[in-house]
Amino acid sequence: MSDALMSFDDAMAAFDPVLGLEVHVELNTATKMFCGCANVFGSEPNTNTCPVCLGLPGSLPVVNAKAIESAIRIGLSLGCDIAEWCRFARKNYFYPDMTKDFQTSQYDEPIAFDGRVELEVDGETFVIEIERAHMEEDAGKLVHAGGVTGRIGDAEYSLVDYNRAGTPLIEIVTRPIRGTGAKAPAVAKAYVSYLRDLMRALGVSDVRMEQGSLRCDANVSLMPTGETELGLRTETKNVNSLRSIEAALTYEIRRQAAVLAAGGKVHQETRHWHEEGYTTPGRSKEQAEDYRYFPEPDLVPVAPSREWVEELRATLPEAPDAKRKRLQAAWGFADQEFADIVNAGALDLIEATVAAGATAPTARKWWLTELARRANETGVELSELAITPTQVAAVQALVEAGTVNDKLARQVIDGVLAGEGEPAEVVAGRGLAVVSDDGALISAVDRAIAANPDVAAKIREGKMAAAGALIGAVMKDLRGQADAARVRELIVERLG
Ligand code: ADP
Ligand code: MG
Ligand code: ZN
Repeated sequence: MSDALMSFDDAMAAFDPVLGLEVHVELNTATKMFCGCANVFGSEPNTNTCPVCLGLPGSLPVVNAKAIESAIRIGLSLGCDIAEWCRFARKNYFYPDMTKDFQTSQYDEPIAFDGRVELEVDGETFVIEIERAHMEEDAGKLVHAGGVTGRIGDAEYSLVDYNRAGTPLIEIVTRPIRGTGAKAPAVAKAYVSYLRDLMRALGVSDVRMEQGSLRCDANVSLMPTGETELGLRTETKNVNSLRSIEAALTYEIRRQAAVLAAGGKVHQETRHWHEEGYTTPGRSKEQAEDYRYFPEPDLVPVAPSREWVEELRATLPEAPDAKRKRLQAAWGFADQEFADIVNAGALDLIEATVAAGATAPTARKWWLTELARRANETGVELSELAITPTQVAAVQALVEAGTVNDKLARQVIDGVLAGEGEPAEVVAGRGLAVVSDDGALISAVDRAIAANPDVAAKIREGKMAAAGALIGAVMKDLRGQADAARVRELIVERLG
């Protein structure tokens, strides 16, 4: 990495960035795009394959109706028109993870086109025009083995896993996005994050960036400030986290600005993002005509009836931004409190916890503190923790009923996560309920008073600040299984 870089501020003073975002979404259909093989992540290599997705001669593809349905719902949710008639096309190129030497895709007849997304970034509204959303199949996956980096450069050999070949993909392509200025990287990040939420709400994809089920190719070019003619762009491939999208675009803007300011030309090429914080050149970019696109003769055209499209429109979920506004108002959180929920990916979980009977503040508390800490420790998403919103609501109900205190509630959560059953079962199984029998509490209080005569004397003199020490002693005696407020009352009664 030896690129000259201009500072971001200087780059913004001299140039206007233009973005182009291509987002690939892997659909979560049960089977693949053109065959009946299972569409799942993480199987043993080459176990989910058949003659069609291996591209064997003579095999014939059949379109997966569920994938078409998802494509239409995605298109509608992006405000697109849905084609009355469209076809698949062969995109010809060679790569060892694609045995047919062509990818079945769509070209000039996409299923969805002319959409529009509005985004709010730092209080400013940006309109992202969607050029098209088209269907295609994913390729297989090359595994470069025997080296240290896992990249092809230092590999001893490469293996091909065709499980992913034929996975249904939707590629969502924006028109060039102008006018974002210094917010360009943040707008790109917000857009991809919006798409992620939208796909999740539609239920059409797992949208796990780290597993590649949501991938973004980020195009950017610069125009000297005041110009309107687009500059040459680079396309940074497969940037696989939201943070990296922002970082990769910031880097490319600074790099291109330095090239242009030195009188050079930007090469129209793909670039690779390295998590260490820089891009390197990939291949110089083909023109569309190099792919020799032509209509796929083995598949019938797709002509969704208008009735079907309208039926699908009726299944669309509430748009993510509308939903956020509604929930924030209903729950009464300040902007920052609410943003923390969204950023933690806890919105749906908290919504479900509230639906199961918890108040919004308590639901927020459990998910953003205790459970977020556990998810962090084990490196999983909140939604992957082995506890459901209903169970979290049940834990909170136990707290409110006085069965457990907050501290014991954390142990109940431990038990649920460890597979010990429902919260009530964990309380019974671990014997966690607070001692609610006053007789037992009073004897514990008396024991604590006897063991701490000087503290007791202070409280008798009215120094209630000292009560903490006695409460602590009682709690310790009862293994934390007491209601601290009730213990305090009893101390006052005994010494008052
Ligand atoms: P490719 O086949 O090169 O991936 P696509 O049309 O699929 O081309 O995607 C290119 C993306 O880049 C689109 O989002 C498009 O709007 C955008 N784009 C095109 N020209 C420019 C440019 N000069 N600067 C920035 N983005 C651009
Ligand atoms: Mg493209
Ligand atoms: Zn198959």
